[in-house]
Amino acid sequence: MKNRSLSDHKCPTCGNWMRSETKKSEKGKDIITYSCPECGLTYSAEG
Ligand SMILES: [Zn+2]
Repeated sequence: MKNRSLSDHKCPTCGNWMRSETKKSEKGKDIITYSCPECGLTYSAEG
């Protein structure tokens, strides 16, 4: 179950592909957390 819009992100710092993890917020929105295995950068976005 790969969603292209979720996995198609590269790290803005080092350019590596970021891992994404989706969670449901309290309001029922999808919160996507991206994390870079190279430099440790993480950020979240509402889907
Ligand atoms: Zn990075």
